[in-house]
Order: sequence, then C-alpha cells, then structure tokens
Amino acid sequence: MPQVAAQTKIWMDGEFVDTNKASISVFDHGLLYGDGCFEGIRVYNGRILKLHSHIVRMFESAAALRLEPGYTIDEIKEAIRETVAINDRHDGYIRVVFTRGKGSLGLNPFLCPKPSVFIIAEKIKLYTDEMYEEGMSIVVAKRPRLPIECLDPQIKSLNYLNNILAKIEAIDAGVLEALMLNIDGEVAECTGDNIFIIKDGKISTPYTEAGILKGITRQFVINTIAPTLGYTVEERSISLDEVKDADEIFLTGTAAEIIGVSHIGQGAIGSGKVGSITKLLIQEFRQRVSTHAPED
Ligand code: PMP
Repeated sequence: MPQVAAQTKIWMDGEFVDTNKASISVFDHGLLYGDGCFEGIRVYNGRILKLHSHIVRMFESAAALRLEPGYTIDEIKEAIRETVAINDRHDGYIRVVFTRGKGSLGLNPFLCPKPSVFIIAEKIKLYTDEMYEEGMSIVVAKRPRLPIECLDPQIKSLNYLNNILAKIEAIDAGVLEALMLNIDGEVAECTGDNIFIIKDGKISTPYTEAGILKGITRQFVINTIAPTLGYTVEERSISLDEVKDADEIFLTGTAAEIIGVSHIGQGAIGSGKVGSITKLLIQEFRQRVSTHAPED
C-alpha cells in the first residue's frame, strides 16, 4: 500500500506538523457526518494548475454548507504555496480540506465552534501508463448519481458515498471507474471524473443540469484545450446509447488528467483503442501543464 512519507509536512490550522502527528478529533463532524468540503489540485513543474478556480470552488462549497473556514481565499492560496514549497513538491497533488470541526455527537453544525483546515502536498497516480496509452475500461454503475435536489454535486463535500458505492461496483466488475447516470437515465459523470464523447468529429459532454460536478479539468478542456485544436465542445443532455455508440470517449479530472476509454463493459468504443482526437487533446494538455500551467 502506498504510504505518505513520514517527513511530509502537513499544514494544519496554520502550522506545519509531521504526518504522524497530523490528526483530527474523533468528535470532528467531518468524520462523524462527512460535514466539510475539499479540493484536489495538481502542481506541475512548480506551478499550481488552476489554483484560483479550485480555491473559488472550495469557498463556494464551504458557503453552501455555511461553513466559514476562518481564512480568506488569499490566505489559503498562500498556505498552499507554502505547503508545496516546504515539501519541495514540484510535481504532485494537493488536497485541501475544511471540516466542520469538533462538536458534540448531535448533528447541529453550528455547535462546532471552529472548523479544521488542513493541506497535504503529496503524489498521486490513479491509473497505469498502459491505461493512458491503450485506454481504460469502465462499466455503467447501476446506482444513479444523487439528484441535484438532494445534494448539489457542485458542493465538493466530504461525503462521497454515492460515488464510492459506484466505485465499488466498478472494482467488483474488475475495472477502476464507473459511469453514473442520473435518476432520469441521462449520462452524468464518473465517480471521480467527467466524461466527454466524440462522434463524427464533434465533442460533447453532459450539461451541468445532468447533475455533475463542474470539473475544472472539464472547463480547461472546453475553454482552452479543445479550442486550441480547433474544436468546440457542446454541453448537452447525453444518453447512454450515444455513449456506447461514440467514436471516442475520454474522462477528465484533476487526478486522472485526460484518459481515453477503450471499453464500456464488454463493448469496444470505436476501434477499442484511444481515439485520434483524444490523443491530440492529451498531448496538448500535457504540453501546456508541463511548460507553464495556468494558475487562474
Ligand atoms: N466529478 C467528480 C465527482 C469528481 O470528484 C471530480 C474530481 N474532483 C471530477 C468530476 C473532476 O473534477 P476536476 O476536474 O475539478 O478535478
């Protein structure tokens, strides 16, 4: 099992502590109720990809939970930069977490006087190099994505059980990712990634009304990566039949970056390899983030 290096310094409530001392209370509502929010962010060659967008989304998640972290956006950005620097983490993955903080065993969030805030700068590798080259297989989860009315997926909360249960379906089926539909049967997203399909040279992705997290990598592809290559991306309602019939499929996420999908269940997508447009998008993404990752 990959271990976090003992010498990794964790930023906790304004101080750096060693990994083995970085702990939160068993009375923290982040643990007791999944009451809190988080962001996953990448650092490439010393630059923090879309830092501003991630922290704005983090504060929007916190505001939706009526959780006041006790730090400003600029203070959290600065704390992230310090955590990256002290750990000499030129390339890696940053996790920022706001929990509701210590409280009683009751549900009331407002009886927790002070949130806990921590930042980890580590490494991440979700998928093998071979999966990036050959494409990954996914399945369609039986479990639908929680409807917006029940839990808005824009809130990147500490309660990921809807996604984890679908992820277990994937693992049980021998793959690492599952596509989730919404309760109306429209394609939504995967457990930790957004999905894009390509048909006859046209790129589409589920609209936010399908009940998805508006991924920052998704937005980067829509606004920058695809247009650079001369493509526009249509955000719309997408059916499962369209997904199965696509020429190419790829997933996007901070941890996954851009990865092609070769199979859904037993069915091959297009040639059953990473599609040619997907390959160009991956190449463009890698080139941009490795040379001068935008921090906006
Ligand atoms: N959907 C879900 C449910 C996720 O957890 C993530 C990863 N954070 C994404 C999509 C991709 O979002 P992003 O590109 O902002 O990492």
